[in-house]
Amino acid sequence: MNLLKQRILSDGQCLDNGTLKVDNFINHQMDPALMMAMAQEIANRFDNKGINKIVTIEASGIAPAILVGYLMQVPVVFAKKNVPSTMEHMISTPVFSFTKKRCYDVGISRNFLSADDHILFVDDFLANGNAAMGIIDIASKAGAQIAGMAFLIEKGFQNGRQKLLDMGIHIESLAIIKSLDNCTITFE
Ligand code: 5GP
Repeated sequence: MNLLKQRILSDGQCLDNGTLKVDNFINHQMDPALMMAMAQEIANRFDNKGINKIVTIEASGIAPAILVGYLMQVPVVFAKKNVPSTMEHMISTPVFSFTKKRCYDVGISRNFLSADDHILFVDDFLANGNAAMGIIDIASKAGAQIAGMAFLIEKGFQNGRQKLLDMGIHIESLAIIKSLDNCTITFE
């Protein structure tokens, strides 16, 4: 998606450890017009796929997810972080955080995810796929189907895509970064 790629080039900052900082339009300050355009693109790519629920993980996935849900007219559920694994009605799983470099439990209430659900997972980044794998685990415990996964930005030099493709997941990413080497952003 050209609009997003241009914005990454003009406002994104790369950090030494393979992290792209997009704090001024996605992760801290948000650009609602760009966010809506990205949500529209995701909704178009997953039109007619039988999706009846959008799932994301707090916090950065919530903004794109709620706009996709609005456009597709389906409910949006976000997995909560740091839920005690003993909490009643919660389906939880441990997820290793790429940015915080630690593991935490994420969970979704059984009240909001069931075997009737065909979900689209929406998140800001795909890196090593740990967040996505966590959602796959939660969905399978609920008996829900994963209809697809959409990411605003994918870092193609990490192995998340391969893990998800190996599981037969349909992935759409709006901008795929080939490399951040020498702090130069290049796209696939
Ligand atoms: P994964 O679980 O695929 O390894 O990493 C995805 C999660 O880590 C996303 O939810 C995102 O919040 C965070 N993340 C991974 N890489 C980056 C990055 O380069 N920049 C930012 N801002 N977040 C990232």
